[in-house]
Amino acid sequence: MFIINTDLCTACGLCADVCPEEAIDQIGIYTIKQDLCTSCGICQQDCPSGAIILIKTETA
Ligand code: SF4
Ligand code: SF4
Repeated sequence: MFIINTDLCTACGLCADVCPEEAIDQIGIYTIKQDLCTSCGICQQDCPSGAIILIKTETA
């Protein structure tokens, strides 16, 4: 699953703009709604800060 590293995120909003599933929300900080995210990777490619990282989960 993809998560946003809030230490690197500059809150530019680009990831929320490019996400085709509208899975990225700003509620104070930007977060990825895992129930909507399809792990397409577009946000990771477009984030200028390298703040979006792919992590492995036990269920994935
Ligand atoms: S594109 Fe990257 S730096 Fe910009 S809001 Fe999204 S995670 Fe943060
Ligand atoms: S991986 Fe794709 S679906 Fe998931 S938050 Fe990023 S752009 Fe949206």
